[in-house]
This record gives sequence, structure tokens and C-alpha cells, in this order.
Amino acid sequence: MKRFTTLALVSLVLIACATSPTGRRQLMLVSEDTAINASKEAYAQTLKPLSEEGKVDNDPVLKRRVTAITERLVAQAVKMRPATSRWEWSIKVIDDPEVVNAWCMAGGKMAIYTGLIEQVQTTDDEIAQIMGHEIAHALANHQAEKMSVSMATSVGVAAVGMTSDRPGLAVSGAAAAALLAIKLPNNRSAETEADRIGIELAAKAGYDPRAAVTLWEKMGKVGGRRQPQFLSTHPAPENRKQTLRALVPSMMPYYQSKQPRPIFKL
Ligand SMILES: [Zn+2]
Repeated sequence: MKRFTTLALVSLVLIACATSPTGRRQLMLVSEDTAINASKEAYAQTLKPLSEEGKVDNDPVLKRRVTAITERLVAQAVKMRPATSRWEWSIKVIDDPEVVNAWCMAGGKMAIYTGLIEQVQTTDDEIAQIMGHEIAHALANHQAEKMSVSMATSVGVAAVGMTSDRPGLAVSGAAAAALLAIKLPNNRSAETEADRIGIELAAKAGYDPRAAVTLWEKMGKVGGRRQPQFLSTHPAPENRKQTLRALVPSMMPYYQSKQPRPIFKL
């Protein structure tokens, strides 16, 4: 009996493994569709109180600026993974000068906080690096990976929801896990992967790859006593700046290309 259980567990883990776009093995107990559906609910839950406090998309000029950059990045994301053209992509600018953060949930639901733009004094090229990096996490299915890890290492919010006999709680449990996925730190190999994919999306969208290096330099200098939220959820892989700098030459031809830059209307 015990042998059977071990075998069942081993096969479950084998079935649950996936391969990321850069060839890394990932633990996948949660399907991408589950992560996307849960994220839709998590997104609505996150935005509702912010919207009631009047903190969403207040500055039309900033909203247009961020949207224009993101529309070029999403066009490149869809080229890289055509199935994502069916995602309900969306970007919100959250008006909170104290919060240095940005994220993209599974399925393309994004936000950037004014604190990041104001405190880091980001250029358009640097905003493109941030959102390119965030979109890369979604393209590589890192949220489902994080939801899987939290389920495998603890009772798991999603598991609690799924075993509940109260109807409606199952979805909320998964949404809570999806919400947790943007608050938990990524592992360092996921960070390296998002850096690699993000700089390419940005260069193909027409944004200077050298800004990836300046962005992380500037990000490291803000915050004072308090570490920016963005740095706590995106721990620095070894030699992040050097690795990004080494990628720049291979990205310059994409950036300098005279091809028109398509947009994906948001
Ligand atoms: Zn990251």
C-alpha cells in the first residue's frame, strides 16, 4: 500500500512537471487555464477597493504613456506566444506614490504603481523593461508555477478552497492563491528567465536594451529604509546587471531595426 502511494506520488510529480520557454523544468500542479481564471477574479478583487478610493487611472497623460508602451510589448508577446492573443490583456495605473511596484498576473492582467515611475524617475525605455519583464513572467507561466509550489509545500490556499463543500469558495480559494502568486518572491531562475525574455520583448518593441541595466541600478537606489515591493518579489539573481549587459549586443539589432512597431490595442 505504502509502495503504491509513493509510486502514485512520483507519477503525479512527473505528470506535473513542465518545461519553461528557456528549457527549465517547472513543477505544475495548477494548469495555466486555472491560473488565468483565478487571476481574473484576483484582479477584480484587487482593483475594486483601489477604484473606490479613486486610485485607478487618474492621470490621463500618464495612462496614455504607459498604455502606448504596453501595447507595443503585448504585440511582441503575442508574436512570441500566438495563443496569448486570446488573453484579456489589460493595464491599470495605480495612483500610490508610496508603492514601488508593477505586476502582470496570469492571462495578462497588469498594473504599475505611480510610486515606481516617480521614485525611480523611469524613462519610457525603462518602463518598457519593467513591463517586458512582468509580461515575461506571465508568458513563462511563472504564476501557475508559484501557485503549484505553494500548494505542494503547504496546505495551500487553493487546496483549502477546492476541498470545501461550500459552493463558490473553490474559485475564491484559487483566486487567493493567484493573488499570493504576485506577492510571493519569484525564484532566481524564474527571474533570470524573465530578464532574458523581457529584454527581448522590449527591444523588439523598439525600446533600448541598455535601459535594462540602468533600470536595475536606479531601482537599487530608491526606497531608503524601506525596500521597494518590486525588489522583494523580484530577488536579484547572481550578477543580474552583468548578465543583462552581456545580452545588450545581441538585442541591439532588434532595437535598431527600421521595421514598423506593431501594437496590440488595449
Ligand atoms: Zn521578476
